[in-house]
Amino acid sequence: MLIEHLNRRLREHEAQALRRHRRTAESPCAPHQRVSGREMLSFCSNDYLGLANHPALIEALAEGARRHGAGSGASHLISGHSCAHVLLEDALARWLSPCIPEARALTFCTGYMANLALLTALGDASATIFADKLNHASLVDGALLAKAPLQRYPHGRLDLLANQLRLCSTPVKLIVTDAVFSMDGDLADLPALLTMAEAHDAWLVIDDAHGFGVLGRHGSGSLSHFGLRSERLIYMGTLGKAAGLGGAFVAAHPIVIDWLVQSARSYIYTTAAPPAIAHAVLASLQLIAGDEGDARRARLAQSIGMLRDGLTTWVQEHRSLGWRLADSATAIQPLIVGDNAAALALAAGLDAQGLWVPAIRPPTVPAGTARLRITLSAAHTPQDVQTLVDGLARAARALR
Ligand code: PMP
Repeated sequence: MLIEHLNRRLREHEAQALRRHRRTAESPCAPHQRVSGREMLSFCSNDYLGLANHPALIEALAEGARRHGAGSGASHLISGHSCAHVLLEDALARWLSPCIPEARALTFCTGYMANLALLTALGDASATIFADKLNHASLVDGALLAKAPLQRYPHGRLDLLANQLRLCSTPVKLIVTDAVFSMDGDLADLPALLTMAEAHDAWLVIDDAHGFGVLGRHGSGSLSHFGLRSERLIYMGTLGKAAGLGGAFVAAHPIVIDWLVQSARSYIYTTAAPPAIAHAVLASLQLIAGDEGDARRARLAQSIGMLRDGLTTWVQEHRSLGWRLADSATAIQPLIVGDNAAALALAAGLDAQGLWVPAIRPPTVPAGTARLRITLSAAHTPQDVQTLVDGLARAARALR
């Protein structure tokens, strides 16, 4: 019965062009990558600074393993909390302290788990969660798991959020938003959200998965990008994107961090990440904040400008297709095609040319907004970007 049921659902997925397929990377994460037996030029990864295969981080990982062993052996509250985790948490707290006074930090195995932790631990029955409708799935899942009622506001509609806040009577109010929206690449209006949080005695929970390491002074993230400072900020950053490794952290008021350690189930009931990763993240933070990080961010900005110039012209010349380049200044550059099958066909046309760009479809994005999600990295060369612009034009011609 179960197998028949699942088979039927799988066939439905296939019929709606929603079936997902995994490919196997056979070389390290990089723009030029061997994938399922083919050499591809990739525009898929979140390795925004091109650090995932950096020799200094590979060496730091090996050195971390030599020093601390391969695994942590237990959860943080049993015996898995290592001095490497402590050093990393101290460094991350210092990193965020210009924006969050007295910040402390807590590391997690993944951003998904950090978001579940935050929303379930803070969103108890005395709270209400207010969330942008385009927030990442991990924030949505955290809010659904939390005891607090969830109120979602349409993307960026802070006027509607203000009404919801005015009508709310719970003592704790949590406004929750992506800083850089992961499927659109646009930035939340964090200054306005913080002003609103202050006016309504609410707290602002920010998921900066795509801003940490890329935006702000020396890559310190979206809070720095907007020049924000407040103890009402609760910040989640991930370490598997610009930082090139894996894991995540929350930085916030010390009492918030204390409470997460006491009560967040996705922190307490899981094996601590290998300390070698924490050791290597420390090396990554040094790269991100140094001259090399600045140079990499400059190269990334150049590629973003070049891609947008190329695609904006092309989309204007082919207006009849009804495609749209999202209004994004970040490394996430979606080309919104609309129809699921058209997005898949376009991705297939690129694939045939050795260009790897994922077609993102519902439920990840709203129905009717299927898209190519192009992501850029500091490791892309201008030639790589030009190859993509030319390849897209060719794939679109073939489609018509
Ligand atoms: N938040 C956002 C906005 C993300 O894009 C992602 C990952 N795609 C996550 C959280 C989850 O982070 P992780 O991959 O470390 O679980």
